[in-house]
Amino acid sequence: MRAQPKASHFINGRFVEDKAGKPLDVIYPATGEIIAKLFGATPALIDQAVQAAAAAQPAWAALKPVERGRILRRAADILRARNAEIAELETLDTGKAIQETLVADPASAADALEFYGGIIAGFNGEMIELGGSYAYTRREALGVCVGIGAWNYPIQGAGWKSAPALAAGNAMIFKPSENTPLSALALAEVYKEAGLPDGLFNVLQGFGDVGSQLVDHPLVAKVSLTGSVPTGKRVLAQAGSHMKHATMELGGKSPLIIFDDADVENAVGGALLGNFYSTGQVCSNGTRVFVQSGIKDQFLDRLTTRTKAIRLGDPLDPEIHLGPLVNASQRDKVVSYIEKGKAEGATLHFGGGVPQMQGFEGGCFVEPTIFTNVTDDMVIAREEIFGPVMAVLDFKDEEEVVARANDTEFGLSAGVFTKDLSRAHRVISQLKAGTCWINTYNLAPVEMPFGGFKQSGVGRENGLAALYHYSQIKSVYVETGKVDSPY
Ligand code: NAD
Repeated sequence: MRAQPKASHFINGRFVEDKAGKPLDVIYPATGEIIAKLFGATPALIDQAVQAAAAAQPAWAALKPVERGRILRRAADILRARNAEIAELETLDTGKAIQETLVADPASAADALEFYGGIIAGFNGEMIELGGSYAYTRREALGVCVGIGAWNYPIQGAGWKSAPALAAGNAMIFKPSENTPLSALALAEVYKEAGLPDGLFNVLQGFGDVGSQLVDHPLVAKVSLTGSVPTGKRVLAQAGSHMKHATMELGGKSPLIIFDDADVENAVGGALLGNFYSTGQVCSNGTRVFVQSGIKDQFLDRLTTRTKAIRLGDPLDPEIHLGPLVNASQRDKVVSYIEKGKAEGATLHFGGGVPQMQGFEGGCFVEPTIFTNVTDDMVIAREEIFGPVMAVLDFKDEEEVVARANDTEFGLSAGVFTKDLSRAHRVISQLKAGTCWINTYNLAPVEMPFGGFKQSGVGRENGLAALYHYSQIKSVYVETGKVDSPY
């Protein structure tokens, strides 16, 4: 098995195996080959990991922030030095093209480690004047935090969650998606090599039941989940029943609005990035592409030409743009949405097929697919597909498109392409979405807060915002005069 790790779990600085857990086979989605055999965590291991984290956390929180930051920055350097090897692991685990994982996966996790490692020493409370007396606030760690990952950006998710958590003085137990369990273990090795004390970053494998037991554990203070809206609702309710902190990064059906005056090549580039990157498995994808009538023909012409040039195939080949979907059930789900689109009367403008490729007969491939003449009420315009399926919708004016763009239960992202910057800002200010772009799409630098409005989530990852979500304020009133008591 070509990607078998030393063991399934990483607890208190060591790899740990326990074959009593639920078997979890790791499948390379390009071929169907089993590349590793792991086991989900048992209740005993869950408790062991949480106890280890709880024991290690107070000494870590007591370090000077600059000392915590130094370890994170060292980990960023080690992660970058191992980029090629971890990118390949990520491609085997997810099926995403190596040309993406080489630049967007371990690299993005390293950015998070570097950013929070650098910024944490300047993250302080405030001093409040009270007319002689004063108050100050402290930003204190929460304790043991649980990170639960989705399968589309496994090491990025582990980095985006653990870096601010650790920087702020917490310990973390990370449970990767059962579909993509491998790279979080590599991150655990990186942290260990960088000098992170044992117990502060632990990895437990498993399905939703392991995540749920972690959220219930009395020593856990917070959960940060990336996943679908239904899972997010369950986990948020469970965290709420214990009054625990929670961050939810969930799904979307985001609008990408292209006005007549947009630069056509840039708008097409944005639409391609916002629909086909990572084989369409990106939460913030702009899957409802609203195109104003005056630019529609030109836009579709260039979109078609550039989509034809997308090379689908062996994700380990650096020339390939698009790999398979993460597994067969996701492939089947995407295919069923394509069928629904056709049945509802949308025009299948491009793709829609399931390619058969020699040597990859067991792969979960779907062609990049474009539907035109899509209307707002169609299922493919309302539900998150999470695959390479773009819906192109027509619009006439600004007011109309803003109302239609907002007519969704989701609110993760939105984008606008126009050369009229006044219009761009005006439209963005009216869109009900947490992460927006003007004249680009889907860029998520770690410096910029990321997260959703409405059903797309609560809390934020990245930026300074994430540090607020991994810490709690303690207010301290300091009296400098007499205590004025009526009694
Ligand atoms: P999912 O909801 O099926 O699973 C997400 C994670 O939650 C997995 O690790 C799973 O094991 C765990 N889980 C499931 N049930 C649980 C429970 N009851 N308690 C605790 N943990 C539980 O999502 P997925 O299919 O892995 O990922 C795709 C979804 O994630 C899409 O909807 C996508 O939009 C979303 N996503 C959001 C973001 C974001 O930042 N907003 C990023 C990537 C993906």
